[in-house]
Amino acid sequence: MLVSRDVSKPRILVIEDEADIAEILQYNLEREGFEVEVEPRGDRALEIVRRRPPTLILLDLMLPGLDGLELTRMIKRDERTATLPIVMLTARDEEVDRIVGLELGADDYLAKPFSPREVVLRVKAVLRRTRQDSHQAPTYEAGDLRLDVAGHRFLVDGDEVPLTATEFRLMKVLMGRSGRVQSRARLLSDVWGYAEDVDSRTVDTHIRRLRRKLGDEAKRIETVIGVGYRLRA
Ligand code: CA
Repeated sequence: MLVSRDVSKPRILVIEDEADIAEILQYNLEREGFEVEVEPRGDRALEIVRRRPPTLILLDLMLPGLDGLELTRMIKRDERTATLPIVMLTARDEEVDRIVGLELGADDYLAKPFSPREVVLRVKAVLRRTRQDSHQAPTYEAGDLRLDVAGHRFLVDGDEVPLTATEFRLMKVLMGRSGRVQSRARLLSDVWGYAEDVDSRTVDTHIRRLRRKLGDEAKRIETVIGVGYRLRA
């Protein structure tokens, strides 16, 4: 079969072993102008990601070969693929998996059963955020923290600290508005790109992970009880 490839199209890798779900995702994403590749096995998906990194990954958690959490761990550990946006597909009530997924660096998640429309909206929101990241180029500083947007580098006391794509955006928002309280709702909207249907604990999970990476500078991210967070300038 001859497959034509349009290089300008964002390419979505759908890693899902349930054929009917994969087919619905593929149909709806292709209709929106995305190029879609489907892979039902986790281990083979990792090979695809390494050989030809997609624009975004839609990832089911229960997979043959290599499960979704382990796959995420391996993608995030490899600096060539660490910033690839990942949207996880979780069964409803698999809250533990969801939290672990975000801890590992997934950018978003969708609980099954989801509507195809919802998937398309989330995928577009994540891609929009990723693009914005590469278009704005200031450098922010606060204490020993330094965020170089163009170089996509984050330094603590002169040492580079690797951040996931979401952590980087969160840090950029906090540093760009240092001294001002940012509510969880505002952060969800500005960092994650949408405001409804999301647990505010998503924000807390990412803040916790960021603080761990900041070492002595962790205190610079202040919790404002009942409201949200503020970066001390
Ligand atoms: Ca599955």
